[in-house]
Amino acid sequence: MLDGYVPICYSLNAGLEGILARAKNEPSDAWLRMPLGSLLWTFMAQHIRCVESFYGGKFNLRVAIPSHSSTRGGLRHLDAVIDTVRDFSAEWASGALHKNEASKAEMRRAQIVPGLFTASPAVKGQRILLFDDTFTTGGTMASAAYALRQAGASSVVGLSFGRQLRADWKDSREFVASLADRKLEIDKCVVHGGRQADPFSFVFHQPG
Ligand SMILES: [Zn+2]
Repeated sequence: MLDGYVPICYSLNAGLEGILARAKNEPSDAWLRMPLGSLLWTFMAQHIRCVESFYGGKFNLRVAIPSHSSTRGGLRHLDAVIDTVRDFSAEWASGALHKNEASKAEMRRAQIVPGLFTASPAVKGQRILLFDDTFTTGGTMASAAYALRQAGASSVVGLSFGRQLRADWKDSREFVASLADRKLEIDKCVVHGGRQADPFSFVFHQPG
């Protein structure tokens, strides 16, 4: 369902998730949306062409995964992050995806939940860049990609601030060890860096 996935950085042992959770849930920390918006804008300004060429062509639509209307009083957290950068929101197709229910823990496991999102007919035939804040098992992003493909999107590539990794997860232990001395270098993306876009292969359960 996802044709590819690119993390802006890796988040080790909950380093990035803590900042994201504060930006989302603590009104007094809402200012954290500004550096996050700036990070996303900077990464895209420098590297979206690299990602497009790696995955076979220009993206026609950029879609941020929406929050459910019952979550945080209906605030769409990622739109709020994008809105901190002037004129940036015009580059994103808000309304292309609708979230039908609030995520529950079991939905975040590595599986596609077919009814979790509904996509607008406007996505038909489009090459889509799909953005979410974090990527843990990939279940949320895969469910969103599923809805987009069902509505006729021709390709969906995921992007997130961070891919969550933990040293005590068996399948990521070796990779986490290899990251120990690596700094965030915003002028390098996974494509520039000459690394494979993601070192893990994903196994998503297809809906039956
Ligand atoms: Zn690059």
